[in-house]
Amino acid sequence: MLVGQKERGIFINGEWRESYSGTYRTITNPATLEKLTEISYGGKEDALEAVEEAKAAFPLWSKKTARERSTFLYKAYEKMLEHKERLAQILTSEQGKPLSESRTEIESAASYLLWYAEEANRVYGEIIPSSKANRRSHVIPHAIGVIAAITPWNFPASMVTRKLGPSLAAGCTVVLKPASQTPLTAMEIVKIFEEVGLPKGVLNLVTGDARAVGEALTQSPDVRLITFTGSTEVGRELMKNSAQHIKKLSLELGGHAPIIIMDDAKLDVAVDLTLASKFRNCGQTCICANRVYVHKKIADSFVEKLVTKVKNMKIGNGNEESTVIGPMIDRNAVEKAAEHVEDAVKNGAAIASGGNEWDGDLAGYFYEPTVLVNVNDQMKVMNEETFGPVLPIDTFDSVEDVIEKANQLPYGLAAYVMTESTNHVFKLTEALEYGIIGVNDVFPATAEAPFGGIKESGFGKEGGKEGIHEFVEMKYVSIGITE
Ligand code: ADP
Repeated sequence: MLVGQKERGIFINGEWRESYSGTYRTITNPATLEKLTEISYGGKEDALEAVEEAKAAFPLWSKKTARERSTFLYKAYEKMLEHKERLAQILTSEQGKPLSESRTEIESAASYLLWYAEEANRVYGEIIPSSKANRRSHVIPHAIGVIAAITPWNFPASMVTRKLGPSLAAGCTVVLKPASQTPLTAMEIVKIFEEVGLPKGVLNLVTGDARAVGEALTQSPDVRLITFTGSTEVGRELMKNSAQHIKKLSLELGGHAPIIIMDDAKLDVAVDLTLASKFRNCGQTCICANRVYVHKKIADSFVEKLVTKVKNMKIGNGNEESTVIGPMIDRNAVEKAAEHVEDAVKNGAAIASGGNEWDGDLAGYFYEPTVLVNVNDQMKVMNEETFGPVLPIDTFDSVEDVIEKANQLPYGLAAYVMTESTNHVFKLTEALEYGIIGVNDVFPATAEAPFGGIKESGFGKEGGKEGIHEFVEMKYVSIGITE
């Protein structure tokens, strides 16, 4: 990254170039509002050209052996770790999260490349015992084709590799559109693949206008699958636009994660895990706790311990090692958090900590870590994804009561349970309508496990052995034996 200079953010068929429109977008540091650089900003024409090149590269790439494809991923994994510190600094500068979190994200991002370097070699077909003596039934895996990967700004590295790892491993070629706010990390990841010699056209990057690029990708019949992480609203739009060509989709959408704290939970552990889940990335992850349900018997001591710790959280620039709460991504994000707090207070909630924009010495987008009590089901904060550092705490007195509360929203991404009781583990994990459930664990995302939501949080899995199957079509071949 060359601070203050213009950069080419479009990479098609192995060439970095400007957009056809010649426009640029300024990338700023959300902590300081300093300009980092300007990136060429693509549109429809750029996206369509990228699709064409990805299509042209598909036959060669998909016919490589799994072992050959795996080697590129493995080399990219090693390079990512080699450049961990530099990548973490770029990530923090464009996204804002504390450096320690950026380092963890780069490690996690690299782990998806390693995992899919390994899984590339384990995509098996099947031979089905036939019901007819003169017929053989084979099921043969086949790479789907050109993939469009659309990624969000909250995890500028790991959301990219979570999609690139399995799609490239499966033999697909890719057009990647990173979030407009955070293209720099994605550009660095693409450069790593360039450095390790990935064949031209296999991976293409179009930084640009979301609507124009998104429409081009959904409307092109040559894109066979869209893998998307972002809001439910945009996911819905992508689904509608994909109907025309019956495009396959893998959607990781919004969530509204409940944390359920049973009266038998270890209180200090529950407090620390709740804080870690809620305030990681300043509350801006789709699996962040959005609402807490704590058992009435322990509610007072839980709130007291939690609030004491929240008041000591250091807010600041993510590039300072002591920072725990960094900036939010933009002005709209701050306004949404403020709106949720205002609405809750108007409807009877009390602020136990925070509740204001931070008036520190940085120009960026900061909101104090905030705890709300006396909340009810009608408040916005209990229904809409806040995507910010606001933690509403409600209480319950029976397992049945809390299951009903936890399941009452249309979202089904992640839920958490804090308990030491086996009975509660089974009762709750079996009843909760969520794709991911953490029991005494708030960091469930890992390369070897299937991550994905249900209900309006989407469908499709990322990670695990399941993740690569999204990008594989199973062809059934029925063979008659002629005499
Ligand atoms: P967030 O609220 O996390 O910004 P979005 O759903 O708005 O979530 O954005 C996630 C990704 O989707 C980003 O890369 C963004 O640029 C892209 N995006 C936003 N609107 C559209 C659209 N209409 N079509 C395709 N992609 C879009």
